[in-house]
Amino acid sequence: MSTALLDLVLPPRCAGCGAPGASGAPVCPRCAAELHGEPERRAPEPPPPGLPECWSAAVYAGAVREMVLSYKERGRTALARPLAGALALAVAVAAGERPVVLVPVPSAGAALRRRGHDPVHRLAELAASYLRAAGWPASVERALTQRRRVADQAGLSSLQRAANVSGAFRVAGARNAPVPRSWGDAGVVVLVDDVVTTGATLAEAARALRGAGVAVPLAATVAATRRRDRISGISRCHPG
Ligand SMILES: [Zn+2]
Repeated sequence: MSTALLDLVLPPRCAGCGAPGASGAPVCPRCAAELHGEPERRAPEPPPPGLPECWSAAVYAGAVREMVLSYKERGRTALARPLAGALALAVAVAAGERPVVLVPVPSAGAALRRRGHDPVHRLAELAASYLRAAGWPASVERALTQRRRVADQAGLSSLQRAANVSGAFRVAGARNAPVPRSWGDAGVVVLVDDVVTTGATLAEAARALRGAGVAVPLAATVAATRRRDRISGISRCHPG
């Protein structure tokens, strides 16, 4: 049975720790606090060439990892709100006082069909709406599309990941027309994704945008993989 349906017919449990839910919230207060921690600059080590300055709200481990996977892989769409809240915090700290244009990293076609939604695009739209509600100029440009099939990044080394996503993205409309100047002028461009692991996906997405004349100084994610987890392979199940 789908998790979304179970959410409707059973009292929800916290998607982070499994504790019985109170008042129907998808995550308990403790896990929400872990997710909405202090955003920090957490760059992969070593950062791939061209990686924008990379900020994240939380460390990708434990309850945070469970929440991301439940949202992305198990269809618990109610988690979009707390996850997008974390993303909005990371964007706000990364961008300082500046208006922002959020560009989501596109999900792979196969992943889209399997999940029935583009999880990162949804997070970007929600995060932008939270920022606007707080009086912060924020918009979303779905500027990137996948130009070819990309293998699941799970289990790949840093070098393999970089090769896997090389040339994977195209700037929408850029083949025949330049990116409209208007959106690049609307604020600082912030690439957004759910998790950063080696940074290969974000670096490649930034490269594609720069090729279309768009400056990409910043990236923000819900969570960042710790270096030792990356080495031990806990980042399996995550694409980038
Ligand atoms: Zn919890």
